[in-house]
Amino acid sequence: MHKFKGFLLLLLVFSLSACSDIAQISAEYESVLAAAAFGEAPVLNVTVTFDALYEFASAIGSGRVSVSRIIPDGANAHHFEPRARDLSALRYADLFIKSGLGFEPWANAAVRAAGNDSLIVIEASKGIEPIALDCVDHCHSHGHSHRHSTYDPHIWLSLRNAGTMAENIKLAFIDADPVGADYYRQNLAEFAGHLDALFDEYYRQFQNLENRTIVVSHAVFAYLCRDFGLVQNSIQGVFAEGEPNARALAGLVEFSRNNNVTAVLTERLASPILAESLANEIDADVKIVYTIENAEDGLSYLERMAKNLAVIYEVLR
Ligand SMILES: [Zn+2]
Repeated sequence: MHKFKGFLLLLLVFSLSACSDIAQISAEYESVLAAAAFGEAPVLNVTVTFDALYEFASAIGSGRVSVSRIIPDGANAHHFEPRARDLSALRYADLFIKSGLGFEPWANAAVRAAGNDSLIVIEASKGIEPIALDCVDHCHSHGHSHRHSTYDPHIWLSLRNAGTMAENIKLAFIDADPVGADYYRQNLAEFAGHLDALFDEYYRQFQNLENRTIVVSHAVFAYLCRDFGLVQNSIQGVFAEGEPNARALAGLVEFSRNNNVTAVLTERLASPILAESLANEIDADVKIVYTIENAEDGLSYLERMAKNLAVIYEVLR
């Protein structure tokens, strides 16, 4: 019990420090100008909210589209509050792509503030079946209730959903730039082929597993779990700000023991303290996974998803 109190104290410290870790580095105007391919400036200027969308838009637009990302490196996407200079690219953008499902509660105000009458706004989650949140168990208001939606926003960590998001982005690019239609279709076909290949590789492997339960520090994998028939439990909720109470934590320790959980998954950009504390409690390892909410380790979307799936398969095997 004494050890468990230590765990709770660490949780409190972590929760307090999480409020000040918003490293709002100025947003750089990041463009993917493979202008050589076209001999001129890109045809479309696209601004996206966060890294996974940056990856999808860059894969489909490639050299024909310049893509800028609003949430800067190192910023916590769930706590992001844009400043004027973070939004400068929106004033000149043709398209603004957000994920939706409550992940970017600041986005509508940002669009209004941009004063860009010709800006087209796209929600990449269109057509994805959302996973509803049970707010009794997982949502904590803490004075931030305006941030919360009734759905889990982490759609991009599913390869299936990524295909839908990329398709939505392709359609928006074709609408805005019909001359490039074949180019965008070709790029999407190539990207979707990689998504499908990775999905197929792991779908078969996961079907042969008996152990299907993962424990994550921040509940990011609900959609990935839906794809592969896995089960997720987490220390923090989907908004990376919930402080679990003693009862919930005791339940998580018991859950982990009952389900033979051998590793706690945590993200590169988060403090590992919570995950390490739980891992100590249940005698498990800590493994790093990627949330793709920010740029991480200079890796592409596909590289990070391949690593995530490899880690998850390894801890379940
Ligand atoms: Zn998240």
